[in-house]
Amino acid sequence: MTPRIDFDGHFQPSPRMNVVPGAWYLGFQCAACSKSIAILDDPTGSGVVETGGAADFEVQCPYCGEMRGYSASAMRPWQATTGSPSGLD
Ligand SMILES: [Zn+2]
Repeated sequence: MTPRIDFDGHFQPSPRMNVVPGAWYLGFQCAACSKSIAILDDPTGSGVVETGGAADFEVQCPYCGEMRGYSASAMRPWQATTGSPSGLD
């Protein structure tokens, strides 16, 4: 069974700038520049996790500076491929 994390509330998380290559994160794909924004460590460490709930997140993209609102259902796991922000996709 896939672990599920539900979020409830309004969050303004600070994106993680230093990601570890190979590690899994939960975050959003920037609506403006499409880069992956890391919000928190994937607690499963595997990328096999579902997220949901009624929460909304206000996130400023660390790459292009765009501030956007995202729903909990838009959160997705992704694996960092490099420690360099410019290498993320
Ligand atoms: Zn962006």
